[in-house]
Amino acid sequence: MTFADLGLSDQLLRAVKDSGYTEPTPIQRGAIPAVLMGKDLVGIAQTGTGKTAGFVLPMIDILDHGRSRARMPRSLILEPTRELAAQVAENFEKYGKNHKLSMALLIGGVQMGDQVKALEKGVDVLIATPGRLMDLFGRGKIMLNDCNLLVIDEADRMLDMGFIPDIEEICTKLPKQRQTLLFSATMPPPIQKLAAKFLTDPKQVEV
Ligand code: AMP
Repeated sequence: MTFADLGLSDQLLRAVKDSGYTEPTPIQRGAIPAVLMGKDLVGIAQTGTGKTAGFVLPMIDILDHGRSRARMPRSLILEPTRELAAQVAENFEKYGKNHKLSMALLIGGVQMGDQVKALEKGVDVLIATPGRLMDLFGRGKIMLNDCNLLVIDEADRMLDMGFIPDIEEICTKLPKQRQTLLFSATMPPPIQKLAAKFLTDPKQVEV
């Protein structure tokens, strides 16, 4: 199976080719067509399996059609740490270089002023750690009403770090009609519960 078989746009296939990838990894083969079809997804995969491209690539094609309003991001990727959030942002820049999508990174330890300015311009993809997102939400700087594509990445690490209550609260602020993708290396009971509560008939891909 090649990347071209997965249903990605030609524009995106060019960026994939420039990355030097010759064929999709198993998580990418399982995830990309399902995400493009609008399905919810549970991806059981560790870091190193290519899971980031598994959600970033189809998200770019989905978000390419449409525009974001000020303070109202259209998609949200939750990451447990600043480092992981920054890595996902780099992936977006690399794969999205032929697209005109806007992105903002909301992580702690960075001045809020620039993050607020970016949000005010309108953001297609918001990549955030839960604490900073909740903080800016509490200050009225973000509205999540347009955010109908959510990724909860590294869910088991979120659990270890005590972020599950924050994630539950964030989920309730997003539209009910949305697409939700959850990635985790393992599926302990609290993560299974989270998936059962906030995902609808998800496709499960395990690698
Ligand atoms: P990840 O599991 O998302 O952290 O990705 C691990 C590494 O695999 C990253 O350095 C990616 O650039 C690389 N990668 C992702 N997809 C592919 C692919 N289809 N072929 C070769 N390398 C890939």
